Amino acid sequence: MATKRSALIVYAHQSPNSFNAAARDVAVDVLQGQGCQVTVSDLYAMGFKPAATAQDIIGELQNPDHFRYNEEAMVAWQEGRLSEDISAEQRKVEEANLIIFQFPMYWFSMPAILKGWVDRVLTQGFAFTLPKMYNNGAFKDKKAILSFTTGASEPMFLPDGINGDMNVTLWPIQYGVLNFCGFQVLPPQIFWAPARSPPSVREAMLEVWRTRLGALWEETPLSFIKTDLFDLSLQTGFRLRPEVKEELQADAYGITTGHHLGKPLPPNNQMRPPPPAI
Ligand SMILES: Cc1cc2nc3c(=O)[nH]c(=O)nc-3n(C[C@H](O)[C@H](O)[C@H](O)COP(=O)(O)OP(=O)(O)OC[C@H]3O[C@@H](n4cnc5c(N)ncnc54)[C@H](O)[C@@H]3O)c2cc1C
Repeated sequence: MATKRSALIVYAHQSPNSFNAAARDVAVDVLQGQGCQVTVSDLYAMGFKPAATAQDIIGELQNPDHFRYNEEAMVAWQEGRLSEDISAEQRKVEEANLIIFQFPMYWFSMPAILKGWVDRVLTQGFAFTLPKMYNNGAFKDKKAILSFTTGASEPMFLPDGINGDMNVTLWPIQYGVLNFCGFQVLPPQIFWAPARSPPSVREAMLEVWRTRLGALWEETPLSFIKTDLFDLSLQTGFRLRPEVKEELQADAYGITTGHHLGKPLPPNNQMRPPPPAI
């Protein structure tokens, strides 16, 4: 018998009447309708503690004179001494085949309470180690997607819009957090400016999300550079191997938004997967 799929929705909005709550409810509805087990972490309702502090470690610290979060959290994770709120979220991550992060954009990023979830739950050892990162990452069999609302309209986030290219805005979270931990990152679901849209447009946005969720599991993830293209040593600084650079020299575009190699950014690299090779 096939095992039941499981999804975790990490949801960060204060109001049950918000558009974000409506987007969350659509996801719960569609995924449950598919027979998927759905868990929601409602961070504000849970009073989730956002700050990574020594209180997250149960028992004695390795180095009480100089607290280092990564090192202390890794040992505590190995010994089952992370605080219960972190362990509970880590169990949810372990069980999930898909994580949906549902949030309003704050300061070109995520709300502090959600960033705190990232800081405290995706701890060293559990979510990454030096050998287990990017495409060798701990969660390479799991999918993740950012589903978020903006205050700004879509043209404001175009490469010539006042906020600059949304692909650049997405890079730190999609590559630096999600792909770093190995997740297959699905193209983001962006609800542009719901608060400035008429009700019919807002309803249409939720319908687009509903339809997309119907086939989300089959979607092609975004494409990121593979770690074996780099010299993985501290001496060489984890740089792209010279022969790889040479091979890519003639390409018109950079490899990804971050690995642009001084060339034009591959258009919409953080918004959709590359077209299939012919
Ligand atoms: C600290 C901070 C920083 C910010 N930084 C940025 C930034 O960097 N860039 C940026 O673009 N924006 C930014 N914003 C704006 C923010 O992203 C938006 O206010 C937010 O995304 C709007 O989403 P919401 O869910 O809160 O909307 P809401 O105001 O909750 O909802 C919008 C409308 O949808 C309606 N609605 C609710 N449910 C439904 C439903 N089922 N069907 C149809 N309509 C429904 C609501 O009644 C409301 O009229 C920032 C805001 C804050 C507070």
